[in-house]
Amino acid sequence: MADQARIIDGKAAAAALRAEIGQEITAIKAERGLVPGLHVVLVGDDPASRVYVNSKEKLAGEIGMNSAVHRLPAETSEAELLAKVAALNADDSVDGILVQLPLPKHINPDRVIEAIDPAKDVDCFHPINVGRLANGQASLIPCTPLGSMILLKQTLPTLAGLEAVVIGRSGIVGRPMAQLLVQADCTVTIAHSRTRDLPAICRRADILVAAVGRPHFVRGDWIKPGATIIDVGINRLPDGKLAGDVDFAEAMKVAGAITPVPGGVGPMTIACLLRNTLTAFHARRGR
Ligand code: NDP
Repeated sequence: MADQARIIDGKAAAAALRAEIGQEITAIKAERGLVPGLHVVLVGDDPASRVYVNSKEKLAGEIGMNSAVHRLPAETSEAELLAKVAALNADDSVDGILVQLPLPKHINPDRVIEAIDPAKDVDCFHPINVGRLANGQASLIPCTPLGSMILLKQTLPTLAGLEAVVIGRSGIVGRPMAQLLVQADCTVTIAHSRTRDLPAICRRADILVAAVGRPHFVRGDWIKPGATIIDVGINRLPDGKLAGDVDFAEAMKVAGAITPVPGGVGPMTIACLLRNTLTAFHARRGR
């Protein structure tokens, strides 16, 4: 085994995926005169959300996708937001709708997500899409788990039969990630805050996915030698730097391969949002 883990370059993988999507968009434009469209709704001015939305808009534009950001004031009522979503549902030029979370406290996010046409739900949070994923019938797959799966498939010759441990059971990351790993024939354990002896469980993992939200939480001695580590965590440290959920320096000495933070799963998440928009386009308008 090498002295140091291989770094899984999510930035490069995301750039390659975006280039591939861009080529497909160019071909669609040339052959059919259509352009897939992604519409993002941003309510209020949460600084982190603003950064995410700007980068989604910029990257969509770079690959020739139509993109629009609907910026609504923080005091927008739930009824006004639902009316906006209904208008986007009804607009045939809109293929993907994403309502940026978190929403201001006076708006119920579940009600808003359930109002999005499931065929345009590129975040894949609508209960219909969550159910399809659980049934293994999904065409739209939540962006962060989809990006993580692509990186795993590019890193490992096969996933079948491997032991996978996912730390975290959120609806956005942990649970869908575990479902995708099962569908890829891994043997999957989902760990969470009530899990007993987490280090021992992690040491079984050929694939370890950390989606906890705590910097440097997973230590080097929790890692099975040679394991592949997907670090989903994005944590802002007091000095302003970003850190993952895994102690990267320690993990580098034990793991076989690891995603860095930043530059790992994060860029893949946005690339997969663009992928989902194209998937939604094809599903709605045919190939
Ligand atoms: P949540 O807070 O919704 O979920 C965190 C999970 O971690 C929960 O299931 C929780 O368990 C579990 N957990 C918390 N503390 C412990 C502990 N001590 N031991 C074991 N498990 C624990 O977060 P998200 O899933 O939304 O996000 C997780 C991380 O991923 C965050 O850092 C977030 O910023 C990042 N993220 C990154 C994305 C990307 O593009 N790279 C996209 C989305 C998220 P319990 O259920 O018991 O409370």
